[in-house]
Amino acid sequence: MANERKFFVGGNWKLNGDRQSIDGIIQFLNAGPLDENTEVVVSPPAIYLDYVKSKLGASVATSAQNCYKLSKGAFTGENSAAMAKDVGATWVILGHSERRHVFGETDELIGEKVKHVLSEGLGVIACIGEKLEEREANQTNDVVFRQTKSIAANISDWSRVVLAYEPVWAIGTGKTATPDQAQQVHKDLREWLAQNVSAEVAKACRIIYGGSVSAGNCRELATKGDVDGFLVGGASLKPDFVQIINARK
Ligand code: PGA
Repeated sequence: MANERKFFVGGNWKLNGDRQSIDGIIQFLNAGPLDENTEVVVSPPAIYLDYVKSKLGASVATSAQNCYKLSKGAFTGENSAAMAKDVGATWVILGHSERRHVFGETDELIGEKVKHVLSEGLGVIACIGEKLEEREANQTNDVVFRQTKSIAANISDWSRVVLAYEPVWAIGTGKTATPDQAQQVHKDLREWLAQNVSAEVAKACRIIYGGSVSAGNCRELATKGDVDGFLVGGASLKPDFVQIINARK
């Protein structure tokens, strides 16, 4: 499927960085050159969102890595979508497997956050993905469809939603899904969207892959028709990220 979906590459810095190392990342991002046909978003820790936005060129957007389901109040330690927006962020990553499995976030809570973030006018990078034992038990589609269902139930405007398929066994492990494995799940997800949301959404929604994406494997993954970009962890902290942004060039 040759498609009109704009290639989307997100850099998820997780809990990494200080001003000095962030200056280095900003330097290689601003130097580029970055493929104009790729939408680029970086997601620093919330404390640095403002700093990063003030130093980055206009072609790279910023994203929070998480936020609470309400905009303010007595929720010590949380950040809100409104605050991320106030410092220039235009996206929020939600449902990352580390939020699900380290911090115990449920499908229900992630759904509520999706609804809230969209209502605040920001875009959502919604993550889904199976664990190794689930894949080995042939439950991959059951898991990703269940997770997608509780996300989809909270979306009325899909134009600001990107789905990130991130098999948990591939995250930070150096073990990437093969291009065919990624393509198969992305294709199945697109069919799920066609059946459960609409043909238009299935056609237009970017489904990006995450899990040990590197400068070495990005080009082959990017040749797959249903792989519309990447969510990159470790490699987004290195100059390799520029090569990943340019994977289709
Ligand atoms: P990784 O992380 O690229 O380091 O595997 C991806 C992610 O967690 O988004």
